[in-house]
Amino acid sequence: MTPHHLHATRAAQALDYARDRLAEAVYREMAERYREARTIAAASAIQAWRPVIGPGGIGGHGDPSSRAAVASVEPEVRDGRLRRLQASTTATLAWLADAIRLPPAGDPLPPLGRAIPRLPPAACRELTLWLDEADHRIREVLHLDPDGQLLPGRRCPRCGRRQLTAHAFGPRHTWTVTCTPTCLCIGDDCPCGMASRLAGVRHVWGPDHPLVTTLASAA
Ligand SMILES: [Zn+2]
Ligand SMILES: [Zn+2]
Repeated sequence: MTPHHLHATRAAQALDYARDRLAEAVYREMAERYREARTIAAASAIQAWRPVIGPGGIGGHGDPSSRAAVASVEPEVRDGRLRRLQASTTATLAWLADAIRLPPAGDPLPPLGRAIPRLPPAACRELTLWLDEADHRIREVLHLDPDGQLLPGRRCPRCGRRQLTAHAFGPRHTWTVTCTPTCLCIGDDCPCGMASRLAGVRHVWGPDHPLVTTLASAA
Protein backbone atom coordinates (compact mmCIF):
# COMPACT_ATOMS: atom_id res chain seq x y z
CA MET A 1 0.00 0.00 0.00
CA THR A 2 1.16 3.54 -0.76
CA PRO A 3 1.37 6.21 1.94
CA HIS A 4 -1.89 7.62 0.55
CA HIS A 5 -3.60 4.28 1.24
CA LEU A 6 -2.14 4.18 4.73
CA HIS A 7 -3.27 7.73 5.50
CA ALA A 8 -6.80 6.96 4.23
CA THR A 9 -6.88 3.86 6.44
CA ARG A 10 -5.63 5.85 9.43
CA ALA A 11 -8.22 8.58 8.81
CA ALA A 12 -11.07 6.07 8.46
CA GLN A 13 -10.14 4.40 11.76
CA ALA A 14 -9.81 7.74 13.55
CA LEU A 15 -13.21 8.84 12.26
CA ASP A 16 -14.72 5.50 13.27
CA TYR A 17 -13.60 6.12 16.84
CA ALA A 18 -14.78 9.75 16.81
CA ARG A 19 -18.21 8.74 15.45
CA ASP A 20 -18.60 6.16 18.22
CA ARG A 21 -17.94 8.87 20.81
CA LEU A 22 -20.33 11.18 18.94
CA ALA A 23 -23.06 8.49 18.98
CA GLU A 24 -22.70 8.24 22.77
CA ALA A 25 -22.90 12.02 23.09
CA VAL A 26 -25.98 12.14 20.82
CA TYR A 27 -27.67 9.54 23.02
CA ARG A 28 -27.07 11.70 26.09
CA GLU A 29 -28.16 14.83 24.23
CA MET A 30 -31.43 13.24 23.07
CA ALA A 31 -32.13 11.83 26.55
CA GLU A 32 -31.65 15.29 28.00
CA ARG A 33 -33.91 16.89 25.39
CA TYR A 34 -36.66 14.29 26.00
CA ARG A 35 -36.37 14.90 29.74
CA GLU A 36 -36.79 18.64 29.21
CA ALA A 37 -39.71 18.12 26.84
CA ARG A 38 -41.46 15.82 29.33
CA THR A 39 -41.00 18.39 32.09
CA ILE A 40 -42.60 21.03 29.88
CA ALA A 41 -45.40 18.65 28.89
CA ALA A 42 -46.03 17.81 32.54
CA ALA A 43 -46.12 21.49 33.41
CA SER A 44 -48.73 22.16 30.74
CA ALA A 45 -50.74 19.17 32.03
CA ILE A 46 -50.85 20.84 35.44
CA GLN A 47 -51.98 24.01 33.69
CA ALA A 48 -54.83 22.02 32.15
CA TRP A 49 -55.87 20.89 35.65
CA ARG A 50 -55.92 24.25 37.34
CA PRO A 51 -59.32 25.47 38.51
CA VAL A 52 -61.30 27.20 35.82
CA ILE A 53 -62.60 30.58 36.81
CA GLY A 54 -65.75 31.02 34.80
CA PRO A 55 -69.02 32.88 35.02
CA GLY A 56 -70.15 30.38 37.66
CA GLY A 57 -67.17 31.16 39.92
CA ILE A 58 -64.38 28.84 40.94
CA GLY A 59 -65.53 25.33 40.50
CA GLY A 60 -64.88 23.28 37.40
CA HIS A 61 -61.56 21.86 36.31
CA GLY A 62 -59.85 21.57 33.01
CA ASP A 63 -60.73 18.55 30.97
CA PRO A 64 -59.00 15.60 32.71
CA SER A 65 -58.77 13.75 29.42
CA SER A 66 -56.30 16.37 28.16
CA ARG A 67 -53.95 15.41 30.98
CA ALA A 68 -54.08 11.75 29.96
CA ALA A 69 -53.40 12.76 26.37
CA VAL A 70 -50.31 14.76 27.32
CA ALA A 71 -48.95 11.99 29.51
CA SER A 72 -49.45 9.22 26.96
CA VAL A 73 -47.93 10.97 23.93
CA GLU A 74 -44.12 11.12 23.80
CA PRO A 75 -43.25 14.80 23.40
CA GLU A 76 -41.81 15.84 20.08
CA VAL A 77 -38.13 16.68 20.31
CA ARG A 78 -36.10 18.45 17.66
CA ASP A 79 -32.60 17.24 16.79
CA GLY A 80 -29.90 18.85 18.88
CA ARG A 81 -26.58 20.24 17.72
CA LEU A 82 -24.76 16.88 18.09
CA ARG A 83 -27.50 14.92 16.34
CA ARG A 84 -27.28 17.34 13.42
CA LEU A 85 -23.49 16.95 13.29
CA GLN A 86 -23.92 13.18 13.29
CA ALA A 87 -26.41 13.36 10.42
CA SER A 88 -24.27 15.71 8.32
CA THR A 89 -21.18 13.52 8.86
CA THR A 90 -23.06 10.42 7.73
CA ALA A 91 -24.42 12.32 4.72
CA THR A 92 -20.87 13.32 3.72
CA LEU A 93 -19.72 9.70 4.03
CA ALA A 94 -22.67 8.49 1.93
CA TRP A 95 -21.76 11.06 -0.71
CA LEU A 96 -18.11 9.88 -0.68
CA ALA A 97 -19.20 6.24 -0.96
CA ASP A 98 -21.40 7.15 -3.90
CA ALA A 99 -18.56 9.12 -5.53
CA ILE A 100 -16.39 5.98 -5.56
CA ARG A 101 -19.32 3.88 -6.84
CA LEU A 102 -20.03 1.86 -3.71
CA PRO A 103 -23.56 0.48 -3.39
CA PRO A 104 -25.72 2.25 -0.78
CA ALA A 105 -25.22 0.84 2.72
CA GLY A 106 -26.75 1.39 6.12
CA ASP A 107 -23.60 2.96 7.47
CA PRO A 108 -21.28 4.16 4.68
CA LEU A 109 -18.03 4.22 6.70
CA PRO A 110 -17.29 0.46 6.99
CA PRO A 111 -17.63 -0.11 3.20
CA LEU A 112 -15.52 2.98 2.57
CA GLY A 113 -12.80 1.57 4.82
CA ARG A 114 -12.91 -1.82 3.08
CA ALA A 115 -12.71 -0.16 -0.36
CA ILE A 116 -9.48 1.75 0.41
CA PRO A 117 -7.01 -0.98 -0.72
CA ARG A 118 -8.70 -1.08 -4.15
CA LEU A 119 -8.68 2.69 -4.71
CA PRO A 120 -6.06 4.55 -6.75
CA PRO A 121 -3.59 6.58 -4.64
CA ALA A 122 -5.07 9.93 -5.81
CA ALA A 123 -8.54 8.88 -4.64
CA CYS A 124 -7.07 7.86 -1.27
CA ARG A 125 -5.43 11.26 -0.95
CA GLU A 126 -8.79 13.00 -1.55
CA LEU A 127 -10.63 10.62 0.75
CA THR A 128 -8.11 11.29 3.53
CA LEU A 129 -8.82 15.04 3.36
CA TRP A 130 -12.56 14.48 3.74
CA LEU A 131 -12.24 11.88 6.51
CA ASP A 132 -9.70 13.94 8.46
CA GLU A 133 -11.92 17.01 8.23
CA ALA A 134 -14.96 15.10 9.53
CA ASP A 135 -12.82 13.60 12.30
CA HIS A 136 -11.43 16.99 13.36
CA ARG A 137 -14.88 18.58 13.43
CA ILE A 138 -16.27 15.90 15.75
CA ARG A 139 -13.22 15.93 18.03
CA GLU A 140 -13.37 19.71 18.30
CA VAL A 141 -17.03 19.68 19.33
CA LEU A 142 -16.54 16.82 21.82
CA HIS A 143 -13.17 18.15 23.09
CA LEU A 144 -11.41 14.90 22.19
CA ASP A 145 -7.65 14.62 21.70
CA PRO A 146 -6.40 14.06 18.15
CA ASP A 147 -6.24 10.40 17.15
CA GLY A 148 -3.30 8.27 18.25
CA GLN A 149 -0.88 7.81 21.12
CA LEU A 150 2.62 9.22 21.36
CA LEU A 151 5.20 6.45 20.98
CA PRO A 152 7.58 6.97 23.88
CA GLY A 153 11.30 6.69 23.18
CA ARG A 154 11.08 5.90 19.48
CA ARG A 155 12.78 8.21 16.99
CA CYS A 156 11.61 9.00 13.48
CA PRO A 157 14.09 7.48 10.98
CA ARG A 158 13.83 10.65 8.91
CA CYS A 159 13.79 13.65 11.30
CA GLY A 160 15.15 11.92 14.39
CA ARG A 161 12.53 13.47 16.70
CA ARG A 162 10.65 11.49 19.32
CA GLN A 163 7.27 12.64 18.02
CA LEU A 164 5.97 9.43 16.51
CA THR A 165 2.28 8.67 16.99
CA ALA A 166 0.74 5.19 16.97
CA HIS A 167 -2.71 4.80 15.45
CA ALA A 168 -3.78 1.39 16.71
CA PHE A 169 -7.49 1.70 17.47
CA GLY A 170 -8.95 -0.62 14.82
CA PRO A 171 -8.05 -4.14 13.64
CA ARG A 172 -4.34 -5.02 13.44
CA HIS A 173 -4.14 -4.68 9.62
CA THR A 174 -5.22 -1.02 9.89
CA TRP A 175 -2.53 0.06 12.36
CA THR A 176 -0.11 2.80 11.38
CA VAL A 177 2.55 5.05 12.89
CA THR A 178 2.95 8.67 11.77
CA CYS A 179 5.45 11.43 12.36
CA THR A 180 4.45 15.09 12.72
CA PRO A 181 2.51 16.80 9.88
CA THR A 182 5.67 18.72 8.96
CA CYS A 183 7.89 15.63 8.57
CA LEU A 184 7.50 14.95 4.86
CA CYS A 185 9.05 12.25 2.71
CA ILE A 186 11.72 13.34 0.22
CA GLY A 187 11.23 10.37 -2.09
CA ASP A 188 13.74 7.71 -3.17
CA ASP A 189 16.65 9.10 -1.12
CA CYS A 190 14.60 9.39 2.08
CA PRO A 191 15.92 7.31 4.99
CA CYS A 192 12.38 6.83 6.36
CA GLY A 193 12.04 3.17 5.44
CA MET A 194 8.46 3.50 4.22
CA ALA A 195 7.57 0.63 1.88
CA SER A 196 6.69 3.17 -0.80
CA ARG A 197 8.52 6.50 -0.58
CA LEU A 198 6.66 9.44 -2.06
CA ALA A 199 8.10 12.95 -2.00
CA GLY A 200 5.93 15.49 -0.18
CA VAL A 201 3.76 13.00 1.73
CA ARG A 202 3.60 13.06 5.52
CA HIS A 203 5.45 10.03 6.86
CA VAL A 204 3.31 7.04 7.69
CA TRP A 205 4.40 3.47 8.31
CA GLY A 206 2.05 0.57 7.68
CA PRO A 207 1.27 -2.66 9.55
CA ASP A 208 4.30 -4.54 8.16
CA HIS A 209 6.90 -1.97 9.25
CA PRO A 210 8.92 -2.70 12.43
CA LEU A 211 7.67 0.57 14.00
CA VAL A 212 4.17 -0.90 13.81
CA THR A 213 4.86 -4.61 14.37
CA THR A 214 6.56 -3.72 17.67
CA LEU A 215 3.27 -2.12 18.76
CA ALA A 216 1.67 -5.55 18.65
CA SER A 217 4.38 -7.12 20.80
CA ALA A 218 4.13 -4.21 23.26
CA ALA A 219 0.33 -4.57 23.48
ZN1 LIG B 1 9.84 12.56 11.32
ZN1 LIG C 1 10.44 9.37 3.66
